[in-house]
Amino acid sequence: MSLRLVANWKLNGSREFNHEWALGFFSNFKGNSFTFLGIAPASLYIDHLRGVIGDHDIKIGSQNIDLMETGARTGEISASMIKDLGCTFSIIGHSERRILFQETNEIICKKLIQADNNSVTPILCVGESAEENQSNFTFKVLEQQIIEALDDADELSSLVIAYEPVWAIGSGKTPNPEEINSVHEMIKDVVQSRFPKIGLESVLYGGSVNLKNALSLFEQKNIDGALIGGASLDGREFALIANILNELMVQQ
Ligand code: PEP
Repeated sequence: MSLRLVANWKLNGSREFNHEWALGFFSNFKGNSFTFLGIAPASLYIDHLRGVIGDHDIKIGSQNIDLMETGARTGEISASMIKDLGCTFSIIGHSERRILFQETNEIICKKLIQADNNSVTPILCVGESAEENQSNFTFKVLEQQIIEALDDADELSSLVIAYEPVWAIGSGKTPNPEEINSVHEMIKDVVQSRFPKIGLESVLYGGSVNLKNALSLFEQKNIDGALIGGASLDGREFALIANILNELMVQQ
């Protein structure tokens, strides 16, 4: 089962948080399978979280990896290191990294290759700014981000793309579900037509997803799931959102 619902905990967490989150999650999740779920904690807590999650087959991933395997790169972590800790995926190119840490599509491309070399599924984040959205440049901007990021990474064995409009992240605003659906359709078309050797597993939506709007998003044909920041910090809310998606997947 491919990744369909991923928690991005950003710069939040502690060992105590991991335990409390797990209590909230496991007492509310109703599905039989955990394999469509992923959590990206701060890297420092990957190992501890793995222990807290125990035998439940929830995938654990990182929020970032370095573009190099080894070297004099103080403070960085590599794809092989997260693999060593049991991670199966990494978020790559989140807009916060693009904006705050000046990550370009060229850097992101190198990170995608690092992930693939280590059998780590990359979740490539793409998204337009508010100005680009208002100027109707969304499709153009996303197409360019995808083409540039995949330019030298055109044989990835697995890939998840997360469409995350920058203006929707943490703002309480989202495009309407039909708009997101048509963006996802375009993303799938671009990847399948221009990069036929890439194994695109799913296209997730991210940006202010919560318990209230989850169903209206997941009902759309081309929205395969979600990457969730704020609402994923509460184990109970994340479980209730997972139940909604799980129910729809069972009906399919
Ligand atoms: C994110 O940052 O990946 C995200 C989707 O955040 P939020 O759900 O808080 O908008």
